[in-house]
Amino acid sequence: MKLIKQLFFFIFLCNVTAAQDIDYARTVINDLCAPEMHGRGYVNGGDEAAAHYLRNQLEKMGVTAFDFNYYQDFKMTVNTFPQAMEVKIDGMKLKPGIDFLISSDSRSVSGTYELIYLNKSVITNPNKMDDFEKADKKGKVVLLDSTGFNKVQKEYFIAAEKNPFDAKVIIKLIPEKLTWGVSQNVSSFVTLEILKGVFPSDAKKIELNITNKFLPKYGSQNILGFIEGKTKPDSSIVFSAHYDHLGMMGSETIFPGANDNASGTAMVLNLAQYYSRPENKPDYTMVFIFFGAEEAGLVGSKFYTENPVFPLEEIKFLINIDLAGTGEEGITVVNGSVFEKAFSKLKELNETKKYLAQVKVRGKAANSDHYYFTEKGIPAFFIYTMGGIKAYHDVYDKPETLPLTEFQDLFRLLTDFVKTF
Ligand SMILES: [Zn+2]
Repeated sequence: MKLIKQLFFFIFLCNVTAAQDIDYARTVINDLCAPEMHGRGYVNGGDEAAAHYLRNQLEKMGVTAFDFNYYQDFKMTVNTFPQAMEVKIDGMKLKPGIDFLISSDSRSVSGTYELIYLNKSVITNPNKMDDFEKADKKGKVVLLDSTGFNKVQKEYFIAAEKNPFDAKVIIKLIPEKLTWGVSQNVSSFVTLEILKGVFPSDAKKIELNITNKFLPKYGSQNILGFIEGKTKPDSSIVFSAHYDHLGMMGSETIFPGANDNASGTAMVLNLAQYYSRPENKPDYTMVFIFFGAEEAGLVGSKFYTENPVFPLEEIKFLINIDLAGTGEEGITVVNGSVFEKAFSKLKELNETKKYLAQVKVRGKAANSDHYYFTEKGIPAFFIYTMGGIKAYHDVYDKPETLPLTEFQDLFRLLTDFVKTF
């Protein structure tokens, strides 16, 4: 009887701890995706608001700062769209982010333009094609619709996307999904992507009012802190995640970035919280780094590897988490085939404990913040979850629809993995 009571109490305790972790993760994700964070980009100081939030979280947990304020500042160039973002087709207003995107390297454009089409009816008709080739396209708007193109026609289309016409705007009709990004440069022309489904097929005119603002010396930051190890304080295990996202496209459209990467940020904060408890005090020093400007091209992590706050050689292993919000199909480990021994340990742990459906191996890839560390000879994994929602770099990557299916299992796998060092 007594044993059963103890067992119940134990199960109860386990549930409480697990529930607290996931609740904290949810809170962090909601906070980071709130309108006040402006998509954690470069409009209205979104990145700065998120950085400030993370710094406060670390301080509250008692994570130690490398310098007095947890910040590592850096400068970057970035193209932004803080103001007007209007597109009308034959007078019909399109919804930014939902119906259309402008490419992140676009410049300002305003005015009403005739549409010059390059589509199947043009490319398959020699007379029409002749007219298209002869037409003066300089400073005008060329619309590309590759629906129904064959392989050769597609090649012509790919060349046309690069704007050999010197057009002011290239419009591309996209069949399914719009995907945005961040650019550190400004192109000589504007690329506008419109969902094919919302585009009236016989449209004649487009009205544009788009304003970019290029920032040549934007100040952003990495946020970091550590918990000193019990027995091996001079050797460290680093957990990292980028906290930035795409920000805003115009004054009203926010990209919340719940999966990318509020989820990974929440995971690293959860780990920081776990290791900050006296009962979980680690043998190695645990370092937690939240990188800025990943979406602009791994800017924060590259800067860090060039300006480390403690010797890079003291990093025993780095685990970067980016996209931790799903997991229905398990996880992928980038660099898994580069660091085989560590990978097989991780895979074995997962199989023994039956956490995730699959731990998939992948080679080297410059697709997140682990990259410049491995380039400098530091062993590192980049782990992302697979399956579930399809939202990615779009306005639909929201906390409300983020399942966090395997968040707790991934957390357990990571803490178990640390114990093997
Ligand atoms: Zn990401």
